[in-house]
Amino acid sequence: MDLELVTEVLAPEPAYRTRQVWDWAARGAKSYGEMTNLSVGLREQLEERVPFSTLELIHEAKSVDGTMKALFHTSDGHPVEAVLMPFRDGRRSVCLSSQSGCPLTCTFCATGQMQFRRNLTAWEILDQALHFRRLEPIDHVVFMGMGEPMLNFDAAITAARRLPDVGVTPRRTTISTVGWLPGLRRFVDEVEEPIRLALSLHAPTDALRSELMPVNDRYPLDEVIAECLRYYELRRRKVFVEYVMLAGVNDSLDHARGLAQLLDPKIFKVNMIPYNPTGMFAGSSRETMAHFKDALHKSGFSPTLRLTRGRDIAAACGQLAATSA
Ligand code: SAH
Repeated sequence: MDLELVTEVLAPEPAYRTRQVWDWAARGAKSYGEMTNLSVGLREQLEERVPFSTLELIHEAKSVDGTMKALFHTSDGHPVEAVLMPFRDGRRSVCLSSQSGCPLTCTFCATGQMQFRRNLTAWEILDQALHFRRLEPIDHVVFMGMGEPMLNFDAAITAARRLPDVGVTPRRTTISTVGWLPGLRRFVDEVEEPIRLALSLHAPTDALRSELMPVNDRYPLDEVIAECLRYYELRRRKVFVEYVMLAGVNDSLDHARGLAQLLDPKIFKVNMIPYNPTGMFAGSSRETMAHFKDALHKSGFSPTLRLTRGRDIAAACGQLAATSA
């Protein structure tokens, strides 16, 4: 819901009216009709002039594991995908997109293969969460869908700052980045809320990382890691490291040792991610992943292996590419 437009329409009204509308939407209201503390006249005006969502739902798929993927279109026709992951322990985590497509071209990621369309507005980001909030309460959000949030810093942060109203505290909000330094620096300097930072690392050396992620040529590892250290100093929250396991590419014991040299286990928490097929690579075998994990363990890390969710509906990490359109 475009709250700027709501504010415009409600301009003759007392200022708290916009807040009332937002509170209803954030708690999962399905229409203006439900907003009973607004007069019927106001509700009708809103209905006429402000679309209830900035996004149109085009397609929805449900995985055998309960994961749901929604494909939306923006009002100018650009595809956006978001994912809801229900976990056995009761957590409901939503994965949001910050851009339609992505201008970065990480070799293993499907989103990088599609054309970049544009940055999403804060409202387009929030409407993905509200879509799922209308189905059930949600309590975690990860900015790990399409796009690079640090390339769309203002909208991503504006959206993240409104998530507590939707039921998701900053501590349960994670922003994932390739290490796009201009945005990452602002994140460290300007965002005082304890929003979690995740770094898509995927390689322990500049040479290998540049091969996998061209953005590394622009913002090399030492500068990105330095920014993560600054985040830790200021926020005292560990940085999550995402490491996608590519067979024969970045999954040897040498690579594990390289990681252990690069990262301080007191500051970084490594999350190994099984590769979700996107065409270019093969995923590491279970044994290889187990050895890699052991090696990190011996170096003082407590690595985790990410559960793969929604692979059957192409909703898993790196698979969002709006193909179900
Ligand atoms: N651009 C941001 C936000 C997207 S997060 C970032 O890269 O951090 C999506 C995560 O899924 C990233 O860690 C990304 O590297 C990872 N990913 C991309 N393709 C993948 C694949 N095929 N299998 C598993 N993970 C993948």
